[in-house]
Amino acid sequence: MPVAQDCLQCGKCCEKWGWDQKGVIEDIVPWILEGRKDILRHVGIRFTDGTRATGRDLSMDDLPRIARIDYWVSPEGKKLRHCPFFFRADDGKAYCRIHGAKPAVCVSFTPWNEKIRDYALYCPACRDTAP
Ligand code: SF4
Ligand code: SF4
Repeated sequence: MPVAQDCLQCGKCCEKWGWDQKGVIEDIVPWILEGRKDILRHVGIRFTDGTRATGRDLSMDDLPRIARIDYWVSPEGKKLRHCPFFFRADDGKAYCRIHGAKPAVCVSFTPWNEKIRDYALYCPACRDTAP
């Protein structure tokens, strides 16, 4: 398959896979440094001592204590079954409210490059590519 392919912004991938994803520290650092509490309040954190919180009040000092990062939770810490940053505009296209700051799992999601065929079959942009 070609490396480059245009996303059609159908939103299917965000709806199907844009939640219940594991996060990485590299995502969290810029959100803390840039004060992105709008994002951090939807991040589930489990600390090495077993306690849980949202990322809202995280500081850089907390990073060594993080055992697990989950996308996404409500501001009360309840696991969400959708992405809170996803929206569909009047033009029918899907948009990401945090496009410039979205997590690595979203940035790296290019199904036309995936080896897992299920992903490509689900993505209409991939239907334009040669088998
Ligand atoms: S499923 Fe494919 S075309 Fe649709 S938003 Fe995701 S990457 Fe874009
Ligand atoms: S953060 Fe953006 S790209 Fe990632 S699942 Fe949500 S809407 Fe999609």
